[in-house]
Amino acid sequence: MTARVLDGQALAGRLREEIAPQVADFRQRHGRPPGLTIVLVGQNPASEVYVRNKLKAGSEAGFRADLERLPETAALADVLTLVERLNGSPVHDGILVQAPLPKGLGTDGASRVVDAIAPEKDVDGFTPGNVGRLVQGRPTLVPCTPLGIMELLTREGITIAGRRACVIGRSDIVGKPMALLLLQRDATVTVCHSKTPDLAAVCREADILVAAVGRAGLVTKAFVKPGATVVDVGMNTVTDPSIVAQWYPEGHPRLARFRTHGSLLVGDVHPEVAEVAGALTPVPGGVGPLTIAMLMMNTLRAARARTGT
Ligand code: NAD
Repeated sequence: MTARVLDGQALAGRLREEIAPQVADFRQRHGRPPGLTIVLVGQNPASEVYVRNKLKAGSEAGFRADLERLPETAALADVLTLVERLNGSPVHDGILVQAPLPKGLGTDGASRVVDAIAPEKDVDGFTPGNVGRLVQGRPTLVPCTPLGIMELLTREGITIAGRRACVIGRSDIVGKPMALLLLQRDATVTVCHSKTPDLAAVCREADILVAAVGRAGLVTKAFVKPGATVVDVGMNTVTDPSIVAQWYPEGHPRLARFRTHGSLLVGDVHPEVAEVAGALTPVPGGVGPLTIAMLMMNTLRAARARTGT
């Protein structure tokens, strides 16, 4: 069997098309576009790329998309003052503070900053109030990555109710909200993590397996029930040629790409899983583009809720 590819890139394109008239409608009613602002503290190279992509997607979708930068040396008070100012901004409906924040902000720096974001502008869905509303199944702003995965599963006609789902990873950003959303849709959900014994056997029970770990190729055929739907959230950069040579046969386009660039973006799911899974999200082109599309959806939603439209 070769798994059906669940094309997140294509769905993200459709979502952009669907959102365009809604953005135009908002602009006409309010005389301004929905506004997103991203706070970037320090100079993490990966964050620079993520932020650039989010701003570009925002502008292309007709949003106002602004960047607020603070230096690596910024004090926690500086970041909190900035967030407070943005909370009060009439033209910004969504605030996203790009993770990770510099270590200099202290051990509880990241949570203090998240706590400061106005819940109605929390387009990442990370503030405690919004997380609580998600736990209780009440309408709220939901973290973008798991929200995008649910949209993909739904639109691809993957049955969730009554199925066994397994989520590997228990982060606040992906694993936990993913498990909650699957539970809300009546899946029987297991959450696995770094201390789960016999991980492969637990995962093999799943009809829907979501890998959100950050370990290249952790999920092999041994983890996957034949015909299962496998969602690969992981984004890992591989630079070891021996790993790439093991994964891809000579002549494979991914191998050629590695030789050109010296590195390769891969997921948590080993390519051999395509032989057993029923459906599989690719990396790149699976979950990543959907995360950005959902950020736009959340910003539009926040804008409408704030303006009562
Ligand atoms: P995280 O480091 O916060 O959490 C990783 C989780 O994996 C932890 O809960 C940990 O217990 C678990 N884990 C670690 N090693 C394990 C092992 N050997 N076996 C089982 N579980 C193990 O990471 P995160 O923020 O949740 O991100 C996970 C991955 O998803 C990363 O690769 C990240 O880059 C990627 N990610 C992708 C997107 C996207 O849009 N595609 C968005 C967010 C995160």
